[in-house]
Formats: sequence, structure tokens, C-alpha cells
Amino acid sequence: MRKSFLAFLVFGFFASLLIFGTMTSHAGAANPSTSLDKLEKRIASFKPDQRYRDDKAALVTLQEAVAAAKEGNYGIGACLVNEKTGEVIQRGRNRIFSPYFRSDLHAEMDTLTGYEQRVKAQTPKVEGLVLYTSLEPCPMCLARIITAGVKKVYYLAPDPSGGMVHLFKNLPPIWQKIAEGRIYEPAQCSPELKDIANKVVKYSSKMLDERLKKE
Ligand SMILES: [Zn+2]
Repeated sequence: MRKSFLAFLVFGFFASLLIFGTMTSHAGAANPSTSLDKLEKRIASFKPDQRYRDDKAALVTLQEAVAAAKEGNYGIGACLVNEKTGEVIQRGRNRIFSPYFRSDLHAEMDTLTGYEQRVKAQTPKVEGLVLYTSLEPCPMCLARIITAGVKKVYYLAPDPSGGMVHLFKNLPPIWQKIAEGRIYEPAQCSPELKDIANKVVKYSSKMLDERLKKE
């Protein structure tokens, strides 16, 4: 009886060592900063797949998303692209927390503001421009996009908890009317890029949660 109890204790000790070891090594692998570096490598080595219309522009949004995450912001990027030529006209990224707190600088807002400030036109000059963003636009950004006059928006990852595109019918009627005939859809890009878009947001949110808890 005593022997089997001892064996149980010894076995329990080694088993817990094994479990703890697995947990810590798993925690190491899930370090958000290391994970971001890995995503950056996946982006750098990715070759756009010609079967997917939006791979090139999607890749640009992800380069911006990782840059945002590394600066201490939410990992979301965006760009404005000339639909006919494929030329990237403006790039932007989330800049909410860094270099200093700006409640308006979501990636889409940063992109549109950068473009408007550069063009300095009296009326919207977005004809033929498509907005790409790595995450489904939130209510604030969707309203801004509608106001800016951009007629096509493609996003890489859906945002079930914060996105507004899937709740389009909940916009006030006048906003829906202005947006009539415009396109807000998931991007036609490689699944690999959608996966990266999701993960950049996930890891950067984790890093920010940890940082904000300390402040
Ligand atoms: Zn937004």
C-alpha cells in the first residue's frame, strides 16, 4: 500500500514536470513578439499568386499591419490602389497609441487622411481608387470611407466583434443611401494572407493588452 502510494507520488512528480515543461515551452512559442517576427518573414517571402486578384494589394496592407504592430499599435494596415494600373497611391496603418495617442488614426482613416492632405482637392478625388484594408472596417471607418467617396473596399480578415460591413443594414438610412451601389467585400486573396491578417491583429492585441495593464 505504502509502496504504491510512493510510486504514485513519484509518477505524479514527473508527470507534473512534463506538463509544466510542455506548458512553458508552449508559452515560449506563443510569445507575441516572436510570433510577429515569424509573420514578418512569411510576408517577406510571400509571392503573389496570380489566381487571386487582390494578392498584391493585400500584401501591402500586411506590410503596413506588421509595421503598426511593431510600433506598438494594433496590427492593421491599409492602402489606396488605382484599380486600372494597380499602382499603390497611398499607404496607411493603425497609429492609435504610437507615437502618441490618437483616437482617430485607424488604418483606413490614416490612409484617407494621408491621401486627402497630400492631394488637397476641393472635392473628393477618389474615382477609380480602391481601398484595401487588412481587417473589416469598424463603424467609424466605414462612415469615413462612405464620406470620402471611395466606391470599392476590400478587406482581408472579417471582424465579427468590431466590424461594420456585415452590419451594413444597421447604418442610418442616409449613410446607406450615399453608399448605394458601392462595394464592401472580402478581398479575393490567398488564404495564407487572410491567415496572416488575422494573426497580426491577434498578436498585437495581446501585446497591447499586456502593456496597457501595466500602465
Ligand atoms: Zn476603424
